[in-house]
Amino acid sequence: MPTADPSVDVAIIGAGIVGIAAAARLAEAGRQVVVFDRSGVCEETSSGNAAAFAFSDILPLAHKNMAREVPRWLADPLGPLSISPAYLPRLAPWLARFWRAGRPSARHAALAAQAAMMRLAESEWAGMMERSGTGAMLREDGCLELYESDAEWRASLEGWAERERFGIGFRHVRAAELAALQPGLSPRFVAGTFVPGWKTVADPKRLGKAIADYAERLGVRFETATVASVSAGAGLAAIGLAGGRSIACRTLVVAAGAWSHRLAAQLGDRVPLETERGYNTTLPATAFDLKRQLVFSRHGFVVTPLDGAIRVGGAVEFAGLDAPPNYARAEAMLEKAKGFMPGLDASDGRQWMGFRPSLPDSLPVISRASRHRNVIYAFGHGHLGLPPAAATGRLVGDLAAGETAAIDLHPFRVTRF
Ligand SMILES: Cc1cc2nc3c(=O)[nH]c(=O)nc-3n(C[C@H](O)[C@H](O)[C@H](O)COP(=O)(O)OP(=O)(O)OC[C@H]3O[C@@H](n4cnc5c(N)ncnc54)[C@H](O)[C@@H]3O)c2cc1C
Repeated sequence: MPTADPSVDVAIIGAGIVGIAAAARLAEAGRQVVVFDRSGVCEETSSGNAAAFAFSDILPLAHKNMAREVPRWLADPLGPLSISPAYLPRLAPWLARFWRAGRPSARHAALAAQAAMMRLAESEWAGMMERSGTGAMLREDGCLELYESDAEWRASLEGWAERERFGIGFRHVRAAELAALQPGLSPRFVAGTFVPGWKTVADPKRLGKAIADYAERLGVRFETATVASVSAGAGLAAIGLAGGRSIACRTLVVAAGAWSHRLAAQLGDRVPLETERGYNTTLPATAFDLKRQLVFSRHGFVVTPLDGAIRVGGAVEFAGLDAPPNYARAEAMLEKAKGFMPGLDASDGRQWMGFRPSLPDSLPVISRASRHRNVIYAFGHGHLGLPPAAATGRLVGDLAAGETAAIDLHPFRVTRF
């Protein structure tokens, strides 16, 4: 148990977008922060994602229609969803929880919590972008979700009605308006939904690094190191780095993405964190004249305009943290995209895989550790980590300061499982 004077005020494990945003927020509040990451600043999942800055995307993934969709998804070995047979026994308890999270009462509670989080996130990001001078990285051209049949469009309406209840604007489009929003689409797309308030960022890696630069200007130190162990006592917490160095701190923040549950377990909390692995290919900007982010929900992927590039990707693969990537999944999405966007030049692509940190109810853990007031968890942001990062940073700051949190944190508590 650490007893010495702290060598660090706040230690954060993880320099993904969540750890970076928390570091910036804590530094703004005058705390002395050191962030430890084994691979540098914004180099893993937060670096290569699809750049959706989608405050309007509030629907939990589990829903009652899932039973209808899953067999179709699983039937295609390179389709939107795949489960490694060898991994299935380990995944089964998570799947059972996911299934229960789709019950109407659980789903509505998660939806309300996510909507509150996104409302906070939008205002927190506005402030953070202004203070850090990153506002120019925001793209506000909306997104276009596409459907291949009236039946598919009709099936989407329930979800749009749920969003409408939370004030999210959209309009269904067809024919000329659809073609104007994105010229050059395959005629197989008969309908679309345009979401004007859906934002993207110019490049998630550049945004993460720019917020980290801002945090550094406020005094945050980033250190490249692997954290091998964590512990906490009544006063101090401590981390042990691979190589043997040990660091005591007043406050410890665990923001280690899909690896966070391994650290939480050392602190006495069992968290059903899974990784939904995802893939993409980044093409030169000249590959297609892309007007805005396109969402092909039925096929589980999106196409995003970035600064100087186009990114095609998504999909969910359950295979754990250690299996090697299967880039055939990235290729399969690119092949589909070529059919959906005739004229797409799919050459010179760069493939990537990332680890979404996912909890069964699609909500993150933002919470004190159950046994240690000086340890704060901030992980599990799943499919959408970018928008809630600034809200999470704010909430971590509230917890660290012992202040009332900006939103009700009960739905995000670590003990809910
Ligand atoms: C294909 C794909 C597309 C996506 N698209 C979007 C999107 O469009 N919009 C969106 O908002 N989200 C998207 N996401 C999700 C988003 O990327 C994640 O939710 C988000 O990046 C999680 O951020 P994080 O900071 O929690 O984790 P990470 O970015 O994974 O950061 C955690 C960090 O912790 C470090 N770490 C872990 N363990 C240790 C240790 N023991 N010692 C030291 N360091 C450690 C890791 O090195 C890592 O850098 C997508 C994800 C994928 C895979």
